[in-house]
Amino acid sequence: MEVYLAQPRGFCAGVVRAIEIVERALEKYGPPVYVRHEIVHNKYVVESLKAKGAIFVEELSEVPPKAVTVFSAHGVARSVEEEAAARDLPVLNATCPLVTKVHNQGKRYISKGRTLILIGHAGHPEVEGTMGQVPGPVLLVQSVQEVNALTLPADTPVAYITQTTLSVDDTRDIITALQARFTDIQGPDIRDICYATQNRQSAVRDLSKLVDVILVVGAANSSNSNRLREIGTEAGVASYLIADGSELNPEWLKNARTVGITAGASAPEVLVDDVIEAMRRIGPVKVQVLPGREENIEFRLPAQLAAS
Ligand code: SF4
Repeated sequence: MEVYLAQPRGFCAGVVRAIEIVERALEKYGPPVYVRHEIVHNKYVVESLKAKGAIFVEELSEVPPKAVTVFSAHGVARSVEEEAAARDLPVLNATCPLVTKVHNQGKRYISKGRTLILIGHAGHPEVEGTMGQVPGPVLLVQSVQEVNALTLPADTPVAYITQTTLSVDDTRDIITALQARFTDIQGPDIRDICYATQNRQSAVRDLSKLVDVILVVGAANSSNSNRLREIGTEAGVASYLIADGSELNPEWLKNARTVGITAGASAPEVLVDDVIEAMRRIGPVKVQVLPGREENIEFRLPAQLAAS
């Protein structure tokens, strides 16, 4: 079987930084370090950090007094920051700088008196964080139908921001519908979207032109991994999301001569290797990495850890 690996795939700079924050905190302060929410949506990553002494919680009330606390890459609402400050918890914020940028865009639009619309998925921690960061009401829209159902007058000054794990392609129809619906509308520059989301989606589109089956390595609760699988399916290629090699179903590969593999932004390369190993147990495999966009973005660590 011919295997093509999408390029780029897997870890983005925001995920690398978030994991490094937990690891460095464990080294500097010693275990345990408390992490609010899965640091990134990947069980393997979470389990590895647990083994090193991280404790994952959903609410700050579960964190004991004075314990070092990390906020996940998805960002948190202001109420969470305030609760941490009120309890005097030493906090390391692993919110991806690109998510923080979206928060700042939202705050700017609200300060200019605009009604803010967030394009994103209800219930996703990033969306909850963003809605809780901007000081004003935020209308969440998930589809063109929801744009059409908005009851605001057409001349309301509005502005939109988007969840980072949606690409330009994902949001194009919704933005077009918003622009058709409102006469006074502003939004961020198209270049402001997350580079990693766009690059991984473009790479999976390229991959879909070459292969019979696509395997996306990623967690079931990872928004960007699910989106990669959907893009493969939309391109007409049978596409499956798998956490690791143990989930590979040989039936999927029965009639495939070429298989493409990619990985969501929170999936480590070791899991891609695990999937390839599982394929080798089915039959001979020849692996090629596709040419693709090179990424050399790095985000700085929080000041408390940068010097350590
Ligand atoms: S996908 Fe983009 S926004 Fe999300 S953590 Fe990675 S770099 Fe940051």
